[in-house]
Amino acid sequence: MTLLGAAQIRELAAALDLKPSKSLGQNFVIDSNVCTKIVRTAGVTSADIALEIGPGLGSLTLALLEIAQSVIAVEIDPRLAEQLPITVEGLFQNPEKLTVINKDALLIQSLPADPTVLVANLPYNVSVPVLLHLLEKFQSLKTGVVMVQAEVADRLAAKPGTKDYGIPSVKAAWWAEVKGAGSVSRSVFWPAPNVDSKLVSFTRRATPGDEQLRQKVFTIIDAAFAQRRKMLRSALSGLYGSSSAAEAILNQAGIDPTLRGEALEVGGFCAIAKVAPDIF
Ligand code: SAM
Repeated sequence: MTLLGAAQIRELAAALDLKPSKSLGQNFVIDSNVCTKIVRTAGVTSADIALEIGPGLGSLTLALLEIAQSVIAVEIDPRLAEQLPITVEGLFQNPEKLTVINKDALLIQSLPADPTVLVANLPYNVSVPVLLHLLEKFQSLKTGVVMVQAEVADRLAAKPGTKDYGIPSVKAAWWAEVKGAGSVSRSVFWPAPNVDSKLVSFTRRATPGDEQLRQKVFTIIDAAFAQRRKMLRSALSGLYGSSSAAEAILNQAGIDPTLRGEALEVGGFCAIAKVAPDIF
């Protein structure tokens, strides 16, 4: 099968009179080797139902179709969503393997089939909310590889006590084990972005609690990192009424109240949530 290279991407864009939108993060991969490598890194097999967010002109989609049982592609831009099945029909002998959904990925609540693997070059301005939304809504997603802005990749995969550790790291850790999976050169995109890109891979694991606990944990994480340099007893004082009330909860949870949020793994936030009162 033909994968898309620089010349085909430019031709497709010209035929659509497409001016890549910055606000939609439209930087298209023009190197088919990179797409093949991403699919390989994700360990996609012929048993997989792959979910791709933001298929754009279809570079990664075609590489996925070559291996996966089927591909569900969610694209917000109607021009791209309309064109993609036409492109695939022209280049691939089993175009019925592809389902394109023209929607905002953040609003997707259901899909025509349960996806098993997420593979995407995510729109960079919404990459963290999109990833967290998909991990929450589609529990059938067991693994995945996503391309994101390099700093975001570092944050997603960061461990406690490091400068990159923050809200994306802990929230992603609720759902999955997240690891860095390599850098991608700016030269493989058209137009070239003004930020660096990296791949991150994830493997879902059992969550440390139910949905009710998750909501409490995420509220505490948001408060703990809203004032990152503050000790937990002070950072959580707004949530629990006073720093002495927060300190009592932290002591009960077995967490040193003078620690900062950046010192805690997701399990530490769970310990706090389990003894803390519900906040509505
Ligand atoms: N996958 C293509 C590639 O690698 O060449 C394009 C990737 S480009 C970085 C991001 C794509 O996501 C664009 O096609 C853009 O229109 C789409 N997009 C942006 N925001 C989106 C959203 N909220 N939901 C779904 N797609 C979105």
